[in-house]
Amino acid sequence: MRAELVFVGTELLLGEILNTNAQYLSRRLAELGVDVYYQVTVGDNPERLEGALRQAIGRADVVLTSGGLGPTDDDLTREVAAALSGRPLREDPAVLAEIAAWFERAGRPMTANNRRQAMVPEGATVLPNPVGTAPGLIVPVGEPRQPGGEPPALVLMPGPPPELTRMFEDHVVPYLTRRMGGTPLRLFTRTLRFCGIGESALADAVQDILAAQTDPTIAPYAKPGEVHLRLATKAADAAIAEARFAPVVEAIRQRVGQHLFGTDETTLEQAVGDLLRQRGWTLALAESCTGGLVAKRITDVPGSSAYFLAGYVTYSNAAKMDVLGVPAETLAQHGAVSEATVRAMAEGARRRSGATVAVSVSGIAGPGGGTPEKPVGTVWIGLAYPGGVRARQFLFRGSRDHIRQVTAQYALAYLWA
Ligand code: ATP
Ligand code: MG
Repeated sequence: MRAELVFVGTELLLGEILNTNAQYLSRRLAELGVDVYYQVTVGDNPERLEGALRQAIGRADVVLTSGGLGPTDDDLTREVAAALSGRPLREDPAVLAEIAAWFERAGRPMTANNRRQAMVPEGATVLPNPVGTAPGLIVPVGEPRQPGGEPPALVLMPGPPPELTRMFEDHVVPYLTRRMGGTPLRLFTRTLRFCGIGESALADAVQDILAAQTDPTIAPYAKPGEVHLRLATKAADAAIAEARFAPVVEAIRQRVGQHLFGTDETTLEQAVGDLLRQRGWTLALAESCTGGLVAKRITDVPGSSAYFLAGYVTYSNAAKMDVLGVPAETLAQHGAVSEATVRAMAEGARRRSGATVAVSVSGIAGPGGGTPEKPVGTVWIGLAYPGGVRARQFLFRGSRDHIRQVTAQYALAYLWA
């Protein structure tokens, strides 16, 4: 089944409110296995709204709208849908009674324009709105596309998110499910999360698998310090989806399993915790430019006290020397943001805490402090472990906040180096 979404409201076009209904409906329709090829946002203008609805209903089985069902003059969706479907609006006594009862309960007087919300296009189905006053409507438009089928329909829902979500779940989901023949296929996804490997290197390593794969489909997705492969399939239940995912995941694991840190919602800090527990290792941190951000993320994980011993925020050169034992000559010769310094910081943190491994970070987060040799965004990350010490340089771009976030991400990922 094909659906399209039309969001009604000039305030959406002006950026005054975020279209959270778009995200909500898109995600839920995907889960339900309904294809959504287009979404449109249109202002409170009858001609443009009619144009948008006409185009959508010409392509889709069902067009879902949000907004413009209220009592005021700029709320036009009901009238435009009635005109488009050629169904005259009639006052529905049952709906009017519902609205009157709502005002009664709320202890507010019902105004004349609230009666507009009781107008129902002939032959439309009314969807109750327990959270607000404007009911939703299912308005059939034209003739069935297949003999014996159902005509395309407009499904009108109110704009306020609590009203829309409640109506969608209680009434629109059962309607869509029935239209799809009772046992709909749902979308299942499996996200494989990698670190310590770039998007293109990962895509390269599994290129033939990606190219050959049609069900489940696989899409790569990069975010700072992580690369994801998202597998998706439509199936009647989770077991069927799982059976499709398993061989593909195994094939990918064979190639790049050493970079795979988790699946689905597993975060990098959770995966770090799992890795340390598995190996029976403990961790210490020496942070400069991240100011404790890495330690914050490590300790976001409940139970992190089992493996996290200490984090040293050594912002000044003096602290790097006094707390971590970084030699004064190292700082004088190479500077605080250097390979030699992060190596000494990691070794110092490991020595001082007694941890199995220590990760260190030193960089220039900006906006000031950059030089031609070491521009803003230059970051060194170090790792001291039982087998030795290693370090790597990075160059990140963006705001101070962004550079610090990405640095923390790469510092966590560096344990897989
Ligand atoms: P009302 O009876 O409140 O007028 P309505 O169905 O006419 O409801 P709108 O007037 O279009 O809906 O929007 C009412 C309010 O709902 C908006 O001011 C906004 O706060 C919220 N809203 C509308 N559309 C969206 C959307 N797509 N995403 C998030 N919020 C929305
Ligand atoms: Mg309104």
